Amino acid sequence: MTEQVVPGHNRWHPDIPVAAEVNPGDEFRVECREWTDAQLGNNDSANDVRDVALDRCHMLSGPIGIRGAEPGDLLVVDILDLGPCQPPQETGPAPGQGWGYTGVFAKVNGGGFLTDYFPDAYKAIWDFHGQRATSRHLPGIRYTGITHPGLFGTAPSADLLAKWNERERALIATDPDRVPPLALPPNESDVLAGTLSAGSSEFNAVAREGARTVPARENGGNHDIKNFSRGSRVLYPVHVPGAKFSGGDLHFSQGDGEITFCGAIEMGGFIDFGVDLIKGGMAMYGVTTNPVFMPGNVEPRYTEFLSFVGVSVDHDTNTNYYMDATVAYRRACLNAIEYLKKFGYSGEQAYLLLGSAPIEGRISGIVDIPNACCTLYLPTAIFDFDVRPTAAGPTTANRGQCAVTS
Ligand code: ZN
Repeated sequence: MTEQVVPGHNRWHPDIPVAAEVNPGDEFRVECREWTDAQLGNNDSANDVRDVALDRCHMLSGPIGIRGAEPGDLLVVDILDLGPCQPPQETGPAPGQGWGYTGVFAKVNGGGFLTDYFPDAYKAIWDFHGQRATSRHLPGIRYTGITHPGLFGTAPSADLLAKWNERERALIATDPDRVPPLALPPNESDVLAGTLSAGSSEFNAVAREGARTVPARENGGNHDIKNFSRGSRVLYPVHVPGAKFSGGDLHFSQGDGEITFCGAIEMGGFIDFGVDLIKGGMAMYGVTTNPVFMPGNVEPRYTEFLSFVGVSVDHDTNTNYYMDATVAYRRACLNAIEYLKKFGYSGEQAYLLLGSAPIEGRISGIVDIPNACCTLYLPTAIFDFDVRPTAAGPTTANRGQCAVTS
């Protein structure tokens, strides 16, 4: 991305200059690098996941200025189309050129939802066949991708950015040495700020204050909502003149929760947008701290699921957590992994599968003290074999292994 005529950026800051301008009503194409800016390769080692430089992430395209947008407006964004690098079967070394990957990040470099159970780095490479994906690291599975962007949003105002930095620093201060950390404060290494030249006072301000792109916040950001698929309409609060809309982190597919942290099938590619404005829309609709959206209408249809239940109990230590949906969903994931291991997958393979496949995660019960109840819905049709439970027992086979570190 640093070699582009108009570079992108990897921090949120109101003073990053617009890369291009459009009018309300325009339709246009944006090309995106994969979120690490192609640090990971199409190979059988997870060393590149273990060693990835996370300060460079996420690498975003933009900002795109929308003429006439003012703070208080709602920016209407239609996702008209998206996909991997064109033409569909373009091949090459960068994610999106006919292939993508799913990674489990090491506990000491990013971590993930089950990092206490899977502390090392793992990877699965996926090959794209039109809309379908298969993996040499996860044999027996084939599914149609619900393609979507992981991350799009508007620039924060200077006041909003200051609030983010204040509250995230306060959170970090509650346990500053935690691994993985509670949050990521501004960090001056590997900063890219569009056309601002390194060393200028404007660039230094972005490096010093710019918010990291990992969490979703009041401007949108890294939602990782798999239903931002083709046909979606998303309404973003506008916090600065021109809105300064940016994004990237395209996904070929992802399960609810993106549990391995890099759990989607990550790719570079293109996304076609239409934009419009609802003047004064934030007050008109009471939308101030959040985007709202209408899900896309282009996705595979699954009619049968195997659903795993989790409650807010740590069964290993027999500890009860009060109404904790995070603990409950973690149990649902672990329960699904134990089930899939009976069919010949390693735990790491099952974890990679649940991050990337179109599983549905639900908060099923959140009122029955003391146990929150969450469920993970696994579509049975993504397997080449019958994954349903029967009296004959599971269909076991040698299902290989994902990419591991050396
Ligand atoms: Zn992603």
